[in-house]
Amino acid sequence: MGERDVDAATAVSALRLRYAGEGDSDAGDRREHDVDAAMAVNATSTFGVVVVGGGVVGVSVAYALAREGVEVVLLERGRLAGEASFGNAGTVSAGHPPLNKPGRVAQGVRQLSDPTSPLYVKPRWDPELWRWLTRFATYCTDAHVKSAMEVLAPMGMDSLRAFEDLVGREGIDCGYHADGYYAVCETGDGLADAVDEAELIRRFGYKPEVLDARAMGEVEPALAPVAGGVFYPEAATLCPYDFTVGLAEAAARHGAVLREGVEVTDVLVGGGAASGVRLSDGDEVGADAVVLATGPFSLAIADRLGAAIPVQPGKGYHRDIPISEAGASDLRIACVLHEASVFCTPMSDFVRFAGTMEFSGLNHEMRPDRLAQIARAAGRFFPALGSAPPISEWCGLRPVSVDGLPIVGPLPHVPNVVVATGHGMLGLTLGPVSGDIVADWVLRDGPVELYRRLGPDRFGG
Ligand SMILES: Cc1cc2nc3c(=O)[nH]c(=O)nc-3n(C[C@H](O)[C@H](O)[C@H](O)COP(=O)(O)OP(=O)(O)OC[C@H]3O[C@@H](n4cnc5c(N)ncnc54)[C@H](O)[C@@H]3O)c2cc1C
Repeated sequence: MGERDVDAATAVSALRLRYAGEGDSDAGDRREHDVDAAMAVNATSTFGVVVVGGGVVGVSVAYALAREGVEVVLLERGRLAGEASFGNAGTVSAGHPPLNKPGRVAQGVRQLSDPTSPLYVKPRWDPELWRWLTRFATYCTDAHVKSAMEVLAPMGMDSLRAFEDLVGREGIDCGYHADGYYAVCETGDGLADAVDEAELIRRFGYKPEVLDARAMGEVEPALAPVAGGVFYPEAATLCPYDFTVGLAEAAARHGAVLREGVEVTDVLVGGGAASGVRLSDGDEVGADAVVLATGPFSLAIADRLGAAIPVQPGKGYHRDIPISEAGASDLRIACVLHEASVFCTPMSDFVRFAGTMEFSGLNHEMRPDRLAQIARAAGRFFPALGSAPPISEWCGLRPVSVDGLPIVGPLPHVPNVVVATGHGMLGLTLGPVSGDIVADWVLRDGPVELYRRLGPDRFGG
């Protein structure tokens, strides 16, 4: 790293983070952290690294760098953890295979005409999406699943260690439970499919356990009779918003500067290297390196630097149902309803039901039929689920990469710009490890060989 403007960095790091509403009974405030980013990053500010994007990935990057003493500023155009990192299902699903797998395309085609299925593709003229889907299909092979698992499996193990470490060392209060989760199957076919997936995961060092119908009923009495399930002991659950903001607070304690409401429009480049970023108000922020952790957004910035990042927004939804007689049962377990791909995660005093994968572009339009898909599946698996109104209904956009692997590494033509996106359904799980991988790129010669496979150079360009 080059010289840094220590005074400027120190001045702007007077950011304060507060946790508001602890013990508050109001549902809206309960998960509200108040971030006061009053200090300005002005045109003369210079940092070691600018991180663009304050989701779980950008925050993890800022944390990893700040912990190593780098003067880092994180610029978020909205609020920290305001997008997918806010309302996801909160499962740390280590060892989970990629979305691409043999049979996925045929399954997808069948699901398109089924309103009860988790998949929805909005019928519309979107050549980029159809090109992406065609390319996605080319990765649905056994060979690709194997090579993806060679990376995802050790990444998952690293991720479990990272969560234990972070939550413990930084005292992040996010309802972290390392109790595993269950894939619960309604039908024999569903169970056969879940067992196949478990066998794959087992081959890569994890220890899933298959349960028959009776055992599954004993584990979770609130369940309707089911065909069986698979227990993933290595998984953990937490509140994703509390985790991300807690990690941001920890990054700030280590000296990171966090700014909300600051939009980056471009990376400043000269002679094949970045020297900072331009903001939407025309100001510039200098840096020795730039990290683009913008989720499915702002990918045009990388495109202008000669790297087309093959990511599509995959919309998912949640419904948070209060735990009460008229609402959700106080579930003993976290689980995914396998056939419906709906996650059920107990969080403090509510159960989060989350799922669906909707390809309809970059928008936050809530489609009632998608929320209904989640509600229907939840009601089928949990017959005692009452009609209490949800305390939150929400949608967020996953950054879904074309090959089911995160895209983390330097841009081929501007190597001091590192991209970290494309985590799809695993962004919470793989966020902290991605932060460490980015730190290896920025501060050292790059990560271990296996993680170098995640670079955007794998797509050419
Ligand atoms: C319903 C649902 C359930 C899920 N469940 C799980 C789960 O159980 N486990 C799991 O591991 N993952 C899960 N995921 C996926 C996970 O939420 C995402 O992969 C993850 O949140 C992506 O994080 P991110 O930081 O890359 O992106 P984001 O959270 O989208 O953050 C990117 C940030 O960048 C900011 N930004 C964009 N452009 C700019 C710009 N130009 N300037 C400044 N800021 C900018 C955005 O405002 C945003 O805040 C789920 C997702 C959904 C939708």
